[in-house]
Amino acid sequence: MGFADRLKKGLSRSREALNEIFYFGGEVDEDFWEDLEDTLVMGDLGAEVAMNVTDDLREQAARENLRTDRQLRRALSERLAAEFCPVGRDPFDDLPSCVLFVGINGAGKTTTVGKLANDARERSIPVVIGGADTFRAAAIEQLDVWAERAGVRLVTRDRGADPASVCYDVLEAAERDGSELVLIDTAGRLHTSSDLMRELAKVVSVTRRRSPMPVSVVLVIDATTGQNGLSQAKEFDDALDLDGVIVTKLDGTAKGGIAVAISHTLQLPILRIGVGESIEDFQRFDAQAFCRALVG
Ligand code: GDP
Repeated sequence: MGFADRLKKGLSRSREALNEIFYFGGEVDEDFWEDLEDTLVMGDLGAEVAMNVTDDLREQAARENLRTDRQLRRALSERLAAEFCPVGRDPFDDLPSCVLFVGINGAGKTTTVGKLANDARERSIPVVIGGADTFRAAAIEQLDVWAERAGVRLVTRDRGADPASVCYDVLEAAERDGSELVLIDTAGRLHTSSDLMRELAKVVSVTRRRSPMPVSVVLVIDATTGQNGLSQAKEFDDALDLDGVIVTKLDGTAKGGIAVAISHTLQLPILRIGVGESIEDFQRFDAQAFCRALVG
């Protein structure tokens, strides 16, 4: 299965939600536009995006006399794509680069680090992984499995060690080995959310100070959390000044629109997306292709 087909398959639930209203015979009336706006809100695009997109599309449809299912789908998909914040520097392509992955437990951070390490290896990029979630023993074990599978070195410390010291170690190892890409996994849960943000802010600032290469902070977020994901993203962005977002589990949800809401509201680029558990289901983000797969 090719790239576009995987994306289409992954986004099928989100697309089905939209298709309920896009199954129509002719009348593009007020009810149609109201239904469209409601569907976009239900698809978690957020009220503001849903309203702007619907208003613009209504004007465009009148101006260009768009009536057919095909014309409307294409216009909607193009209009939605314009809501995404464009990707400037891609921290996985523009090397050397050190990336800190943040996000709550279960979002898909470890899997993402593993997949990106594997991808870097396949592209012959010297890469090293840092395991800075020293609060959870299982996190290191899981990362170790990924590192081994990808044939990539993992630098970490024992449970309870200072996560910032792991960042020091891994940057040192990268310098020694000539690694051009440093991927650092961080903790997703502490006693309270403010403890977590404080700890992560410290890890970010130590890494920025220590790193000879540009440092990016990337949020990994689970699409199935819907609007909750948007407030989570805001909290992380306020505390850590994020550089980009990776949205996972777009395959398990009808709420694929959350990717649009996060990127637009926080003005953050979506760098990669996960549309399934296998390595091939992890893709570079392309707003046009994403919106075409979402709208159908
Ligand atoms: P972490 O706690 O943030 O490090 O999350 P993990 O990397 O351990 O991922 C949690 C679960 O989500 C694992 O079972 C992954 O296989 C699964 N997962 C990650 N990405 C995706 C995805 O894009 N789609 C699906 N369906 N599952 C995913």
